[in-house]
Amino acid sequence: MAVELQEISRFGYPAIHVVADRSMPLQVKFSVSIPGADRIHYVNEQDVLVVLSRLPFETWQRLRAVHFNDKSWGKRTLGYVNLGRRDIALCALPPRMGLSNALVRGQAPERFGGIRGGKWSVLAVRRFMLYDVLLHELGHLQLIDEHASSSRLKFAREKQAQAFAMEWCNRLWSKPFAHSDPVHNPPSPEELASVLSQSQGVQV
Ligand SMILES: [Zn+2]
Repeated sequence: MAVELQEISRFGYPAIHVVADRSMPLQVKFSVSIPGADRIHYVNEQDVLVVLSRLPFETWQRLRAVHFNDKSWGKRTLGYVNLGRRDIALCALPPRMGLSNALVRGQAPERFGGIRGGKWSVLAVRRFMLYDVLLHELGHLQLIDEHASSSRLKFAREKQAQAFAMEWCNRLWSKPFAHSDPVHNPPSPEELASVLSQSQGVQV
């Protein structure tokens, strides 16, 4: 539901006029650092907000901030969470890259619109960043054992975070989502056909 927030300034007219949508995750802050070399941020605040708005509030209620930073250390790190499990970082990456090495058992590159061993389209990398990396990092924010002595035991660890990501990716992609950006749905048959023909072109 859209809510209009108005603040009347001392001059008598609205100083701030914001249309806020209470269904959107307003409390989450974002920061962006400018990447070095030719690295780019594949996803942005709006992309992340769409994903969050599709998830139950309980799954991201701990989330305080998302940082688009440049700490991928030679593309080995795509994203991570801070020690307090309240902040998520999504890392800048090279402009042309493949992510086959980042896949776990049970994931095929085609699921995201990528190809095994080759460079992925920007759309495929973005899809992976949002519907695997971001969901995985949100997985790490899930409280597993509230009474555990350390945060390492309190919150979801690697396997549980990845299981969370894959389960939510399946659920969100199980039916079409009305959005103009194809990143929020699995690749269409046309996109996959185009990816396949390009990969065959490379091999010839
Ligand atoms: Zn992890």
